[in-house]
Amino acid sequence: MSDQVAPVLDFDPEALRKKYRIDRDKRLRDDGNEQYQEVTGDFVYYVDDPYVETVVQRGALFNEVEVTVIGGGFGGLLAGARLRQAGVKSIRLIEKGSDFGGRFLRPALTSLVSSQLT
Ligand SMILES: Cc1cc2nc3c(=O)[nH]c(=O)nc-3n(C[C@H](O)[C@H](O)[C@H](O)COP(=O)(O)OP(=O)(O)OC[C@H]3O[C@@H](n4cnc5c(N)ncnc54)[C@H](O)[C@@H]3O)c2cc1C
Repeated sequence: MSDQVAPVLDFDPEALRKKYRIDRDKRLRDDGNEQYQEVTGDFVYYVDDPYVETVVQRGALFNEVEVTVIGGGFGGLLAGARLRQAGVKSIRLIEKGSDFGGRFLRPALTSLVSSQLT
């Protein structure tokens, strides 16, 4: 028997889930991954991270974690924080870019983001 008390929510999780499900379903397409174009030719430079001068090569890590989060953008960072709050101790965040923060922390966006946060 658990002595934990369910938190009182000021929103209806089912209604919220339904709302996001409707939005998600609108974006699902029959062509799946085929809708995306490979970044090649004139635009291949978009694959490179323009904010890193020297690419650091590191050896592979071999360890066991409870949760791996792929992508250290806003969503990944938030997932990591929430997982930690939920009691998950061992989390590995894997980011392919030169730093964490994703689109949000790129210099071109810094002024835009900071202007919204101040
Ligand atoms: C021009 C622009 C302006 C915006 N302005 C605002 C704004 O003013 N306010 C606002 O709230 N939102 C704004 N947004 C939206 C906001 O930036 C995004 O909603 C948010 O950054 C999405 O976060 P995310 O973590 O889902 O994705 P991202 O920020 O894209 O993070 C994904 C991360 O995953 C990494 N990744 C991808 N694939 C792999 C892989 N295979 N292995 C490892 N790492 C991987 C990427 O390098 C990236 O760091 C803007 C977006 C753009 C493009």
